[in-house]
Amino acid sequence: MTGQRLIEESNRYLMDTYKRFPLLIIKGRGTRVYDIDGREFIDFVSGIAVNNLGYCNNKVTMAIQKQAQRLTHISNLYYSEPQIMLAKMLVENSFADKVFFCNSGAEANEAAIKLVRRYAREHFDERYEIITALNSFHGRTMATISATGQERFWKGFEPLLPGFKFVPYNNLDAVADAINSKTAAVMVEPIQGEGGVIVPDDTYLPGLRRLCDEAGLLLVLDEVQTGIGRSGKLFAYEHYNMEPDIITLAKGLGGGIPIGAMLARADIAKSFTHGTHASTFGGNPVACISAITTIETILEHGFVLDNCTRMGGYMIDGLKRLANRYPFIKDVRGKGLLIAMELSFKGEEIVNECLEEGFLVNCTAERVLRFMPPLIITRDEIDMLLGVLDKIFKKRST
Ligand SMILES: *Cc1c(COP(=O)(O)O)cnc(C)c1O
Repeated sequence: MTGQRLIEESNRYLMDTYKRFPLLIIKGRGTRVYDIDGREFIDFVSGIAVNNLGYCNNKVTMAIQKQAQRLTHISNLYYSEPQIMLAKMLVENSFADKVFFCNSGAEANEAAIKLVRRYAREHFDERYEIITALNSFHGRTMATISATGQERFWKGFEPLLPGFKFVPYNNLDAVADAINSKTAAVMVEPIQGEGGVIVPDDTYLPGLRRLCDEAGLLLVLDEVQTGIGRSGKLFAYEHYNMEPDIITLAKGLGGGIPIGAMLARADIAKSFTHGTHASTFGGNPVACISAITTIETILEHGFVLDNCTRMGGYMIDGLKRLANRYPFIKDVRGKGLLIAMELSFKGEEIVNECLEEGFLVNCTAERVLRFMPPLIITRDEIDMLLGVLDKIFKKRST
């Protein structure tokens, strides 16, 4: 079928929940994707921070193939080696002692919310409230939209799950003021992704740690977008010389295969006993093998993380040079290869013009261009995008 025909069929058969670009991608290799007409695009979206090693990484692809020929699914009624090995790898490379597997970011956050409530119920009388941030994003299920501090995600779906309290992000006083006898936990993103790549002050996460310790609260970090190398470290909290109590992972974890995980300290994880939580597909062997190979490759010799840090710095410098020349660029910010350029107008048109020039870029929070290329992106590819942006901006300012 032709691209046009398929898009028509899509409109006929799929629910209309996504505003899509008129682009049908059929193949990806490295940092590039290809549409049905054979056009090539350099990808600065990575499936929204998912394809951190790019497309069809050889080791990951081979590992998936091998596992698919051996065993694609087995119930959690039985043990499965890939799941055990992945849990071990996550524990050995993080603050955590125990892992629960699911299939997405929202599910990982659901698991975290349930664990917080269960732990609070066991250790305190009346605690259940979770403080989360305004402008946050935690997923699309009922509990996670209730935790999300942006009205547009929950409008029309009320009544929401009770027990969440929103405070401004990057403001420790607001958190201190919000804590009361009902508070069980604080849950934030280390960098707000969907909210526009908001990087907090270096004192924010350590400050939250201190507030949580003082009040006996759990600190939950939603690392669904920041985790698995995106920030230049395997987990973003590693930048801040502190440790959370629980983190959630998904997007980059499976190297393109759906998987989510919730990691916690052992004493907290104890509150999840037989039958308290479960997922049919959680810890699926193919997904786990893909995740193991992805993390191994990211950590191997530190090359990928090093490239992420260096290319992230290089790209931010380049974008800042553009900001010096074009007054409608309000801000450039980010960490590793999670980078934003805030404009004084809506970014959608720029995204479309980049697409015409052969680049996939993303716009979030209306005016924020978000760049999250595979962590293997090269200097030349960044230069090419910077050149295209310069050309687009120049046209705009004349
Ligand atoms: C994408 C995202 C989610 C939701 O993940 P899904 O896999 O789409 O459910 C949750 N939290 C953050 C920070 C995210 O970026």
